[in-house]
Amino acid sequence: VMDHLASFGSDPFDKPPCRGCSSRLLEPYIKCAECGPPPLLLCLQCFTRGFEYKKHQSDHKYEIMTSDFPVLEPGWTAQEEMALLEAVMDCGFGNWSDVAYQMRTRSKEECESHYMKNFINNPLFSSTLLSLRQMEEARTADTGHFFIFI
Ligand SMILES: [Zn+2]
Ligand SMILES: [Zn+2]
Repeated sequence: VMDHLASFGSDPFDKPPCRGCSSRLLEPYIKCAECGPPPLLLCLQCFTRGFEYKKHQSDHKYEIMTSDFPVLEPGWTAQEEMALLEAVMDCGFGNWSDVAYQMRTRSKEECESHYMKNFINNPLFSSTLLSLRQMEEARTADTGHFFIFI
């Protein structure tokens, strides 16, 4: 086990393991935007399960860490990536004027070329963001019930 760990020790970009399951983090992973330092990092599985630890709550704001992902373009934030996927799901694939209208921050041409370039050929990344989005929706739905019952 020590030999295994040592092989990562020389990596200047080495990062702590997942706080939830202690596994080595593979991108994309989640960084809590409200906890730390030190940063609270979670793998997608633990994040999806709603892992909580001491002060960290599952409804904290988070960042999707994807520095090695070739799909991200400079200037496009994870929030914009998610907003784009959401807009495409809401408005329908190919309906770029409505997508751009919903995005607000991007032109029709930017939305179309970004989506075609980054998502059509990257099913892994796309499905990761979609599952994050579904989780957001589930959480929103839960919150809705919460308020209704109050
Ligand atoms: Zn984990
Ligand atoms: Zn947190």
